[in-house]
Amino acid sequence: MSRILFDDVTKIYNGKTVAVEDFNLEIEDGEFLTLVGPSGSGKSTLLRMVAGLEEITSGEINIGGTIVNRLPPRDRDIAMVFQNYALYPHLKVRENMAFGLKRSTDLPKEEIYERVREAAEMMGIEELLDDKPKHLSGGQRQRVATGRAIVRNPAVFLFDEPLSNLDAKLRKHMRTELQRLQHELETTAIYVTHDQEEAMTMSDRIAILDGGELQQVGTPREVYNEPQNAFVAQFIGSPSMNMFVSELEQTANGSKFVGDIDVKVSEQRANVITEQSSETQFLLGIRPEHITVHTEPTEESVPAQVDIIEPLGSNDLLYFVLKDSENVEEVISGSVEIGEDVQSDKEEHKAFIEPNSIPIDYERSDKPVHLTFDTEHMHVFDPQTGENVGMENPRVSDASTESIAEADD
Ligand code: ADP
Repeated sequence: MSRILFDDVTKIYNGKTVAVEDFNLEIEDGEFLTLVGPSGSGKSTLLRMVAGLEEITSGEINIGGTIVNRLPPRDRDIAMVFQNYALYPHLKVRENMAFGLKRSTDLPKEEIYERVREAAEMMGIEELLDDKPKHLSGGQRQRVATGRAIVRNPAVFLFDEPLSNLDAKLRKHMRTELQRLQHELETTAIYVTHDQEEAMTMSDRIAILDGGELQQVGTPREVYNEPQNAFVAQFIGSPSMNMFVSELEQTANGSKFVGDIDVKVSEQRANVITEQSSETQFLLGIRPEHITVHTEPTEESVPAQVDIIEPLGSNDLLYFVLKDSENVEEVISGSVEIGEDVQSDKEEHKAFIEPNSIPIDYERSDKPVHLTFDTEHMHVFDPQTGENVGMENPRVSDASTESIAEADD
């Protein structure tokens, strides 16, 4: 069993830089868990603490029932794959793959080379076993590095952005390959990436980090459909979720949001929102696939100017700006930290449309389009705390605290 438990794990560098704070998470035996977050959010630090390459300031890491805080890396039964493959240039592929086993075990030579052969077969690199690394392409080197990890038959695989040096096509291919491999071997894996798409496509579950703190953990679908806060909402999904600023008005005639966009909201939902937040102004989050663009106004539509329409093949992406919209950044007033990637498109919003459904002459013209919103899929965020306060059926997908409490019993 190689379940991994993080119990209140904190890492402070040099007595001042808090890289990871009170991190709690349980990774199931055989699970593929991805740590994702912007640069500096603490992903590599967490991975390095699991590997034993970084001391844990406080808290505990438990691998397969053993607290590993004080175990040296070689006694942790893990294998790590990095982005710079760190292959020995003077050794052939076969020797590179056998190196770790030769050093860490006293297995007979034949057994080691048999394992190397099997791993090479799995990675499709048998014909490269007698080559030196300099003769290999980036993709082949990555396969050798992964094969070298497989040979060790570890309890846990740790991947630190292993695909970021590869070109886009190869990266996609290797994603599938690593996933297949992990399922075949059923080895617990922690995979670190800053690329949310990679996280979404590969993982059983995703843990999203920001500023050293766990924001949410859940399956790709959960974190996409039920983001617990504005950070997760905007970090997960491409293009990212649109954010509008509107005020909640509750009158005798019903409740509605008025502001950047005007939308009706059920009494029930308005009550949930006011129970959870004392604010009056909110961030309304709506994904590009939940906006409908019309050429004619309807009773409930909101006008917008089209900037550009980008053909993507199966659909088009329409970039628009609302008239007189509030600046989302000012409303957040610095209390919700949203990643850099996210801020850059704060004024411009996006909607998916059917190809050619909006004539191209709407681009950068005075002719407005008219938008309606699928409010069932609209999220409401408190602008001060960033919390998602409007979920009709809030579901806590972070089961880590509970499980850890259980494990303690
Ligand atoms: P990520 O992998 O998400 O990019 P890191 O774990 O590398 O994030 O870094 C988290 C924080 O810790 C950052 O603020 C980074 O500057 C800091 N940090 C990382 N390594 C060290 C180190 N060896 N000494 C001091 N600070 C560090």
